[in-house]
Amino acid sequence: MSRKAALTAIYQTLQQVFGDSGWWPADTPLEVMLGAVLTQNTAWTNVEKAIVNLKTKNLLTFAALQTLDLAELAELIRPAGFFRVKALRLKALLAWLNESCAGNIELLSNCDTDELRQELLNIKGVGPETADAILLYALHRPVFVVDEYTRRIFSRHGMAPQEIDYHELQSLFTDALPEDVKMFREYHAYIVSVAKKWCKRHKPDCLNCPLRPFLDQDFYE
Ligand code: SF4
Repeated sequence: MSRKAALTAIYQTLQQVFGDSGWWPADTPLEVMLGAVLTQNTAWTNVEKAIVNLKTKNLLTFAALQTLDLAELAELIRPAGFFRVKALRLKALLAWLNESCAGNIELLSNCDTDELRQELLNIKGVGPETADAILLYALHRPVFVVDEYTRRIFSRHGMAPQEIDYHELQSLFTDALPEDVKMFREYHAYIVSVAKKWCKRHKPDCLNCPLRPFLDQDFYE
């Protein structure tokens, strides 16, 4: 099977298993952006607690967040871990939003995706995965998000070397798939689910995994 056909077949298999993933769980693009920073190096359940803290105090708007000083913001997001560093990162993200669109995220819809990506990467603490998650889930751009789970699963299937870099891994998908925001969103969510449920770092449960049929196959370009 070609790698391109396999990547499509894997998506279709996971779509049948998981259906609509509902990811990213957020009410607004701003909430997605905050979540993309808060989820760095922590479990999503911790992010949810931080988001709830902000929501219950009606602070999850651009204007309200601007009123918080660094210490106040850090305290509110404490459950997400690394809260002082993340507060700094959120402040930097908010400063960029203020500068680029005065906090009106809809205004970014006219901007070029590559330029937006570069601007996001210029924000302290925003790396490729966070930038691409923001582009895909908050700004509706057809940008495929890859992560450690993607690397783990697709290297175990012989489609990518373990040490493949972010952009090469991303190209594996973007070269094979149509530019489809919905598909890119779901595929990323499915990969996370497979890694958490079956493809764990130690002792992957291949016997029960829906991707078992794609193991030990030879894929050509
Ligand atoms: S658990 Fe096994 S079959 Fe499933 S994705 Fe991981 S390596 Fe593949």
